[in-house]
Amino acid sequence: MEKLVQCPICHQEINANVLSNNLEVCPNCNYHFHFKVRERIVNICDENSFVEIDEHLVSLNPLEIEGYEEKLKKHKDKSNLNDAVVTGSATLNGEKIYLCVMAFDFMGGSMGALVGEKITKIMIEGAINNIPVIIFCASGGARMQEGIFSLMQMAKTSSAVALMNKTKVPLFIVLTHPTTGGVTASFASLGDVILSEPGALIGFAGPRVIQGTIGQKLPEGFQRAEFQRDHGFVDAVVNRKDMKETLSYLIKTHKVKNNE
Ligand SMILES: [Zn+2]
Repeated sequence: MEKLVQCPICHQEINANVLSNNLEVCPNCNYHFHFKVRERIVNICDENSFVEIDEHLVSLNPLEIEGYEEKLKKHKDKSNLNDAVVTGSATLNGEKIYLCVMAFDFMGGSMGALVGEKITKIMIEGAINNIPVIIFCASGGARMQEGIFSLMQMAKTSSAVALMNKTKVPLFIVLTHPTTGGVTASFASLGDVILSEPGALIGFAGPRVIQGTIGQKLPEGFQRAEFQRDHGFVDAVVNRKDMKETLSYLIKTHKVKNNE
């Protein structure tokens, strides 16, 4: 029997194969469903060009939090990923890139020491080798189970961005649904160009927390990608089907000659 998926926005029932062939975007109302890491990599990179880096690294339990290791294992089994980010090198329309794709389905895309380390390492490699870095963000924020080690990653990743700025190697950020917390408060806000997928929630604290704190009703569409673009935080909202060509254009137009 054909599997049907209901769109949460327009409520139309869509055949799962049709949805998959349409990059998990509703053909009726353009709602962008969750896109898995491996699908994202296939969508962005030239065929068979992606080579994963540090794929065997796994998170430790530095604070010896009870139940954390079991939780990691559960998410590993469920998602087939080692942690909340996959990094590697690839080509995009023939241009060399370094790519990081965060996985929201792995512990809410939370950034612990491993996620911070992998992203930092990619940015340092990019700076050394003069290869642009693209990061697809999706995160609920810092990983609570790693406490201060998790918060440290904000400073660490931000320092790596500073190195990229110094060496004039471009960093392209793509915000996907949702990007919040410590990831928004560090590298995700520091790209040379910041793109977003339509409808993505982008912020630090969520709307409910803010509403509760300031005791005021928030405007329509608050913290959505389009709102953030209209208020200058996001440079462009790009449909999934146009993402590869948009990034390709950005890479070509941001090339800096070594002697400049
Ligand atoms: Zn729809």
